[in-house]
Amino acid sequence: MKRMLVNLKEIMEIAEEKDIAIGSFNTPSLEALEAVLGAAEELKLPVIIQFAQCHEPWIPLTTIGPIMVEAAKRALVPVCVHLDHGETLDYLQCALDLGFTGIMYDGSTLSYEENLANTKKAAAMAAVTGAGVEAELGSMGRRESGDGEVGTQDDTKIYTDPDQAGAFVADTGINALACSFGTTHGIYLTKPRLDFSVVENVRNSTGNIPVVMHGGSGVSGPDYQRAIRAGVRKINYFTYMDKAGGQAAAHYLERLSDGEPIFYSSIVMEAREAMKQNVKAAMKLFAQMDEIQ
Ligand SMILES: [Zn+2]
Repeated sequence: MKRMLVNLKEIMEIAEEKDIAIGSFNTPSLEALEAVLGAAEELKLPVIIQFAQCHEPWIPLTTIGPIMVEAAKRALVPVCVHLDHGETLDYLQCALDLGFTGIMYDGSTLSYEENLANTKKAAAMAAVTGAGVEAELGSMGRRESGDGEVGTQDDTKIYTDPDQAGAFVADTGINALACSFGTTHGIYLTKPRLDFSVVENVRNSTGNIPVVMHGGSGVSGPDYQRAIRAGVRKINYFTYMDKAGGQAAAHYLERLSDGEPIFYSSIVMEAREAMKQNVKAAMKLFAQMDEIQ
């Protein structure tokens, strides 16, 4: 049987071959996990499921991580299980020990030299288990939120320098690079203005490293298409999927008559279905399956 748990390098190769981006969705709950894998299987598309270190207060990596890995092994499509925004090498090692096939080291708040040194260490650790590595250059302004946080806009963004990216990728041997070109984590307060030339220049200076777009939810259809054409191969998407689940739960409660009992399991099922539909729409865009409106 074809192995369905694939590493980050392998899934990025699929994206390059097809000229698409792979949707990369955070799954810090069983409902999110089932929504994302269900969407991928229905559309027959490869997918990345990921867990961000900052979601640790929501559920520990050691609880949800083994479930993600087992679910990926049973999936009917290629799945990479990825650690999103790992901030310490110990935490990256924990994900590798659980069988994660991709890790992101986020040294974007450090100096270039420290980021480079730690990313090299992360790459050496990943090489032991055969996992792939994503790193970040530049800054998206704030970390993954996913807890409804709406952050300040634009003030701390530092766009990725293509020349620095060329040296960084050559020195570290990473498999994907998160670039800052105008996206922001969380909910967009104003329409994002994306600089696609940053992506094109990074591709040129790095021998076509797969570029990762963070803050990928809330971007318009045409902008996704331009980003993919420029060389984005992994799109991190979570906030708007999480919001779709929340809205579905709220609508479910509004539909109940006065005095009708409220069951948590019903709320969860409504939210899961809404997240699945939201993820399917995103996956179709990233795989260029739909005409862009
Ligand atoms: Zn991110």
